[in-house]
Amino acid sequence: MSVDESTSASSDTDQQPTQQCALCDASLSRSSQHLADNRETLIYTCGDCRIGATAVVQQSGAPSERCQRRLDSRQGNAIDGLSVYRLSAFVTDEFPAGQYTVTRTGEHTFEIALPESATQWDILRLVDQLSVGPLDAEADDRSVIVRDTRWTDGPSEAVPDGGVVQARIADGTVPDPADDPLAVADDDEPRTKRAKREEIDVSFQEKPGVYEVHSASGSYYDVDVVTEQCTCPDFEQTCSDPDTPVDKCKHLRRVALEIEAGTVPRPDGKLPDA
Ligand SMILES: [Zn+2]
Ligand SMILES: [Zn+2]
Repeated sequence: MSVDESTSASSDTDQQPTQQCALCDASLSRSSQHLADNRETLIYTCGDCRIGATAVVQQSGAPSERCQRRLDSRQGNAIDGLSVYRLSAFVTDEFPAGQYTVTRTGEHTFEIALPESATQWDILRLVDQLSVGPLDAEADDRSVIVRDTRWTDGPSEAVPDGGVVQARIADGTVPDPADDPLAVADDDEPRTKRAKREEIDVSFQEKPGVYEVHSASGSYYDVDVVTEQCTCPDFEQTCSDPDTPVDKCKHLRRVALEIEAGTVPRPDGKLPDA
């Protein structure tokens, strides 16, 4: 069998060995990802205990402006409740490039393993950034341990089923779509995946409901979210054909996602309520 080595080496499934749940030992499965210039985040969650999770962050330099805004908002959300996804937003380009692994090791305890290239000083700076509000962080060898002090882990906190479920919801192990509507879920349709991944810039036009989209390929298209139309070739050739099951091109999907994310004004021209 002839396998192109460059493809197999760059594939994230090969690069990432099976992740195991630190709480129940089950295998974690990949549930979503966020790919951007200089930044890749893969999220693994536990289908068994539904609490364990790991985020593998590959950081290689300054994020785009849009990516930075998303990191900022996820950092802000960490104060409301920790998840591996929210914690991964603290791994910024202020830290050495490399792979960072954020693991949920207890219901309210997380561990961030830094790459070899990180110095003790880097580890202490990360501790400092994570010591905010109710969050408590400390260095442990090459890792940073983060706890949410509003909760305590351990048997003394064992509660009947309902309590655990509540804590889980408050904690949001799985990336909450409201956190980042542009995170790619593994079961997204291909056009939705492209809409989320590609560097597409969306700007609001004077006409109500019309957004101008600057695609990764350099073309400009008009997206009308009221009539659900786009001026791109994909829309004209495929999506506008009533015989095809696809009715929205990636630009229409992207504009809807950006509206949801609050990065562009709503079609009525009002800014989203922060
Ligand atoms: Zn588990
Ligand atoms: Zn389009």
